[in-house]
Amino acid sequence: MLFAPRIAFVDVETTGTSPTGCRITEVGIVNVSQVGDALVVDEWSSLVNPGVPIPPEIRFLTGITDAMVADAPPFAAIAPDILARLDGAVFVAHQARFDYGFVRAELERAGLGLTARTLCTVRLSRLMDPDRSPHTLDAIIARYRLTVADRHRALGDARALWLFVQALARRHSDIALRQAASRLLQHPGLPAHLGADALAAVPPAPGVYALLGQNDQPLYVGRSNNLRRRIASHFSADPTRERAVRLASETHRLEWRQTAGELGARLLEGHWIRTRQPSHNIAQRRTRPVFVRIDDEPARPRILAADLLAAEATAGLFGPFASRAGARALLLQAAGQAGLCLATLGLERRSPGQACFRRQLGRCAGACIGQSLPAREAQALRVAMAAHRMPPWPGDQPLALVESAPGTTPDWHVFWQWRHLGSVHDETTARELAARHRPPASALQAAGTLAAPAPAIEPEVFRLLRARLAEMPAAPGRVVEL
Ligand SMILES: [Zn+2]
Repeated sequence: MLFAPRIAFVDVETTGTSPTGCRITEVGIVNVSQVGDALVVDEWSSLVNPGVPIPPEIRFLTGITDAMVADAPPFAAIAPDILARLDGAVFVAHQARFDYGFVRAELERAGLGLTARTLCTVRLSRLMDPDRSPHTLDAIIARYRLTVADRHRALGDARALWLFVQALARRHSDIALRQAASRLLQHPGLPAHLGADALAAVPPAPGVYALLGQNDQPLYVGRSNNLRRRIASHFSADPTRERAVRLASETHRLEWRQTAGELGARLLEGHWIRTRQPSHNIAQRRTRPVFVRIDDEPARPRILAADLLAAEATAGLFGPFASRAGARALLLQAAGQAGLCLATLGLERRSPGQACFRRQLGRCAGACIGQSLPAREAQALRVAMAAHRMPPWPGDQPLALVESAPGTTPDWHVFWQWRHLGSVHDETTARELAARHRPPASALQAAGTLAAPAPAIEPEVFRLLRARLAEMPAAPGRVVEL
């Protein structure tokens, strides 16, 4: 057994170095598959008509001329055959990013997609023969005395790679080869669309990042205490996790913002997810947060959209809940456990004058047949929901939670009435931000100014802030009244 049940040793000849601007002129593939105890080797190659002239220097290197490819099929005509040879196989090439990038770009032009694990033989050579630089294909062929016909033609070079891998196994052992290959497969290069140094620019620091697709379309937003490590982990995902592999292969650009601490990262992550709606953040995508108010007359809970509530109107409410459905499920559970009448509380349909279904099961105390007052049911529901009661805002002014870390600008996260008004980097700006949302009473009276409209309460922000305030002063950062 080699390092994978199906391996494709691939080499392409091209008209130049850019997968987007240049074209393939020849493809060579050596497929090696494990069938039972045996290895089955299948070779295939084809010249390709690139549809553009071959530059002289390339003609000189490969020996492939315009005349040779004039009658060859265009890539699109052989694309299905090539895809069948590569699909499900580990893609092995010398400078794998080059060959893989070209093959993927040509397949894409033909309307086909390929996501393969790639293994670069330059990296394999470097890993297994670290003291035997250089690791060019010529040096490797000489080092291992490989017999290669048609060097610089696609099939000749693909065969050389297959011979090289066998030679490595002989020199170092099968196990050593498998271990080295598996290490490289777990730390593959970046997605074909990202520049080679894309990751190097990302700091190993806390913050929020976005993976962007074609035309900067948002794919995924996340946060981490180590942005570089976390982003890299997207590109070394287990190849059997299809969604993760697809996310990596769709990524064209990275965006990130460093934060002073975890609170800032969580606030910004939530904000980016809500405002950008990235296609891969399925679980966190926006629903409309709600509150619950439990009235006495008529006795029933009312579900209120959080974004329609005035800033100070949360007294006596329960919530916030992530969605209407979530709030309703919680109400049903609380009322059911307290033996309340779901029909009387308007949580299930009722037939007037008749005992509700749960009364017939002995699970309702009987408000539906006059054995308890509706207002008492409402009061009992408020008690049953007590754990979800919206706490009053501590104090009567906005607060800032200040996070700082050595070597970074501090973050002032400004909150008022459980709402995140914004994050800024200094106290003066934080006070200005707070004042816009809560002008001093005298100013309001004097000029008739209105406070800036408050953002809606977000359930995650509320929970995060309440937990952080409850941990104070042991939690990181400090609280400043504004
Ligand atoms: Zn009942």
